[in-house]
Amino acid sequence: MLLDSKIHNLEVKGNFDYIFIGAGASSTLLLRSLESRGLLANKKIALVDSDDKTNNDKTYCFWTSMDESIAQDCQQFFSQSWSKISVNRQEPESLDHSRYVHIPSLSLYDECRRIMKEHDLSRMFTSVIDIHKAENGVQLKTTEGVFQANIVFDSRPPVFAPPAKNQVILWQTFIGHIISPAISYERLDCVDLMDFGIPQDGFTQFMYVLPLSNNRILVEMTRFGSEQITASVAEPVLSEYIQKRFGDYELIDTEKGSIPMSTAKIVRENMAGLIPIGGQSGAIKPSTGYAFKKMYQAAEHIAEQLVRKKQITPLKVESKRFQFYDRLLLMILFHQPNLGRQIFTMLFKKNKVFSVFRFLEGRTTILQDIRILLSLPFRPFLRVLRTELNVSIKGLLVPIFTLCLSILLLLIQTFASSYSSSIQLIIFSLGFLAVGLPHGAVDHLLESGIHTKGVKLSFLWKYIGISLAFLCLWYLSPNAALISFLAYSIWHFGQCDFREWSPGSSNAVKNILWGTILFGILLIGHQTETNTILSSLHTFKFLFSADQVSIGTSSILIFAFLWSIYERKAAFFLSVCMLSVGIFLPLLSAFSLYFIGQHSLNGWRHLKLGLHTTNKELFVKSLPFNLGAISLLLIFYWSSENILHVKNNAEITSKFFIFLSCISFPHIIWMHKFYKK
Ligand SMILES: Cc1cc2nc3c(=O)[nH]c(=O)nc-3n(C[C@H](O)[C@H](O)[C@H](O)COP(=O)(O)OP(=O)(O)OC[C@H]3O[C@@H](n4cnc5c(N)ncnc54)[C@H](O)[C@@H]3O)c2cc1C
Repeated sequence: MLLDSKIHNLEVKGNFDYIFIGAGASSTLLLRSLESRGLLANKKIALVDSDDKTNNDKTYCFWTSMDESIAQDCQQFFSQSWSKISVNRQEPESLDHSRYVHIPSLSLYDECRRIMKEHDLSRMFTSVIDIHKAENGVQLKTTEGVFQANIVFDSRPPVFAPPAKNQVILWQTFIGHIISPAISYERLDCVDLMDFGIPQDGFTQFMYVLPLSNNRILVEMTRFGSEQITASVAEPVLSEYIQKRFGDYELIDTEKGSIPMSTAKIVRENMAGLIPIGGQSGAIKPSTGYAFKKMYQAAEHIAEQLVRKKQITPLKVESKRFQFYDRLLLMILFHQPNLGRQIFTMLFKKNKVFSVFRFLEGRTTILQDIRILLSLPFRPFLRVLRTELNVSIKGLLVPIFTLCLSILLLLIQTFASSYSSSIQLIIFSLGFLAVGLPHGAVDHLLESGIHTKGVKLSFLWKYIGISLAFLCLWYLSPNAALISFLAYSIWHFGQCDFREWSPGSSNAVKNILWGTILFGILLIGHQTETNTILSSLHTFKFLFSADQVSIGTSSILIFAFLWSIYERKAAFFLSVCMLSVGIFLPLLSAFSLYFIGQHSLNGWRHLKLGLHTTNKELFVKSLPFNLGAISLLLIFYWSSENILHVKNNAEITSKFFIFLSCISFPHIIWMHKFYKK
């Protein structure tokens, strides 16, 4: 949540270069990476965490080749490492030059204290309540007052957005006993992972056995499931398992914890200077709960960027392919938890442990992935694949429909040309009334952002005033008005389309480039028709030769196709296909296809989501302005014939064009504010 504006009036109790929210694993790893590069010298740094971090509350395990830099940099924290792994009580497998290692969290917390002491960092035992953008950095509201820093590294636990249809939120929960067996344990070089020899109880449940020494063994019961495991459920299972495997024993300590497992989006504030780290940055692998290695890599990445005085950008997230595998597996574990045992058993039985680890780390090639996936029971994957496809295809329904419609119109134009213009007129008039007009008739709701609010008179005056000012520009300088109209339309269409295709990567350069391409295809691709309208508007005209038009349009289309492939956005690709077909249709039809079938439908959906309302409610709210715009249109047609005596079609189109440009100027301003929000 963002702070309200009152924070500006609050006294700032301390200014820092860096503030770390959380004194856990990710902050410690980052502090070490900064320290090793001399980046802590002459910096004012604070750490905020209400927890004093004096308990060994977690154990971090991961696998690593001993050549990897993490193995060398973090070796001092390894309390134990194992050279063999047994999965589900199978024959132990050697890891060759790799090790499965164990780090007690307390050793990291102690390291954090050492760094703080040596570099004289400030420690605030408090919690961050809110975060706010400040003039030069970020302000934190804590229970002890307000603090400010140029850069804030945020490791608060992640909060997930409501999952989409193909996403779920599961929990990995574990309760472990550290025991001292009566009989000394000898198999110290081997760790037992995923022993499914316990009741599953409608979840995916298994045991870990980590021998820490001859007389200290960590035995942990883990559940992957939608419900967290409780002590009363785990204790009897643990006791029975330990008794069966190790005989009599003494209980030394108990540890428990839970890790969220989800591919849903993490909700976080986006502001310059606020850098998410650890779980907050999405470092926790959704399907396994492992995060340590990722956090180490991210710490090194951030430190390197600071050395090079570069802007801090996040470490590359896992590729779409591995996110997809995670989604499939989590969906199965959620909907058919009883299949977890079978899937994990086959995964490790039919593949070398080392390959599975590389796969889980996202370091395998597609061919290796296929080999691993083929070793798994394929039916459950096929079942969840259907949901995955439904979600992806659902997002493509509109672009597919619009493309099909453009092809149909082209076929009618080619094979039944006498009906063509009437059919196009009917389809586009209906489309204009159903969605083209309504999507621009709810701007009054965008001021408040609340769909239940009524219309303010001040809004009406502003809207009419801006439209009339633009009308004046048409009469004063048609060229300036046309250029302005093209400029803001390019911006608006580009902004709306990129919001739809790639909300995460949408930026001003992409918006403008795409808008320019779009108008390039529409206007230059129909140069003769465009010029007829432009001459009625008394503006400049396009004077390209036929060759230049065909070479120019083809080049723009090829660039657009390549760009859509580079962006890997199917809806973008389909849109370029539709515009290519539109070249062979009249200008007004090509534009209407885009305007109604893509822009207005997408804009409508953005409004529905942003205003948290339904199609019906939004349509009802749009009615007064719809009816107003239709009346204005009718008056406009009536007056063009009866008062202005305009008979010629091109002139009517040009007057309509002026009318549209005037009412769309304020619409674009309000939509821009809406998108920025
Ligand atoms: C029990 C457990 C075991 C795990 N085991 C492994 C493992 O074996 N291998 C592996 O790779 N990964 C493991 N993970 C996953 C991951 O490595 C850990 O979650 C890791 O601790 C994440 O580091 P972090 O810095 O993001 O969070 P943390 O280490 O949890 O640190 C976050 C800190 O932020 C503080 N904080 C929270 N809210 C606020 C606030 N509002 N203001 C100020 N401070 C706040 C907390 O007190 C905490 O100290 C485990 C996770 C858990 C929970």
